[in-house]
Amino acid sequence: MLDSHVIEAKFNCEVERVTKENEKFIVNTSCGSYEGKNIVIAVGRMGKPNKPSYEIPPSIRHIVNYNLDKCLNGESIMVVGGGDSAVEYACELSISNSVTLSYRGANLTRPNPTNIAMFEKYLSENKIQAKLNVDIENLENEKGKIRVNFNDGSFQDFDRVIYAIGGTTPVDFLKKCSVELDDRGEPVFDENYETKTKGMFIAGDIAFRSGGSIIIALNHGYIE
Ligand SMILES: Cc1cc2nc3c(=O)[nH]c(=O)nc-3n(C[C@H](O)[C@H](O)[C@H](O)COP(=O)(O)OP(=O)(O)OC[C@H]3O[C@@H](n4cnc5c(N)ncnc54)[C@H](O)[C@@H]3O)c2cc1C
Repeated sequence: MLDSHVIEAKFNCEVERVTKENEKFIVNTSCGSYEGKNIVIAVGRMGKPNKPSYEIPPSIRHIVNYNLDKCLNGESIMVVGGGDSAVEYACELSISNSVTLSYRGANLTRPNPTNIAMFEKYLSENKIQAKLNVDIENLENEKGKIRVNFNDGSFQDFDRVIYAIGGTTPVDFLKKCSVELDDRGEPVFDENYETKTKGMFIAGDIAFRSGGSIIIALNHGYIE
């Protein structure tokens, strides 16, 4: 659809706010402003990833990540989390890195059965290491590496740490688009995914309370 110009896409272009003036929407972005009769907001939740409660020292923030964008090869990496994303990140990264998955629970229970089986296979084949049943106390800069201090007194050093602990609704962004939120900070919409602002719709992960699915996100687009 992109190649045949059915969709006009603007890449590297961040939407800052959407306002409504005289029945028209004005979309203000980092690359200019656009007008629209209807708007579908489908910004997902990963633009606002969950972060740990302890502070990350500024000197190591560039190697503490929330996705795989900055990953290289040949690094020692700790992936933090116990869900599908954490398992998928860890197994994928282990192809060209030395990977440890850290999760506070004794067992992984949240990933789907395929991912649990993949995790166990990689673990039994020593392709990944696991640090289970222990919480992280804090991170420190140890000569340019990340020292991870666990609450059982142990520590390990890594080139990179990746948190895969989910994401939250981009509340501030939705407020700037005049989307009404309920008392839990989730967008309010009807059975057609239309918000209280007529002509403005919600789709994809931000229409879910928890979890997410590519198929459901695509179906939202189809319904709208
Ligand atoms: C590691 C991982 C594995 C997954 N595996 C599966 C799987 O196997 N099967 C499955 O069904 N689902 C899977 N999911 C979930 C799936 O990716 C999501 O449910 C789906 O991508 C949601 O689509 P979306 O369009 O709502 O949001 P997203 O895919 O997150 O897209 C949102 C887009 O909006 C952009 N954006 C955000 N803010 C702005 C802004 N202000 N201006 C402009 N653009 C903005 C973002 O850059 C992004 O490109 C997985 C997720 C992860 C993280």
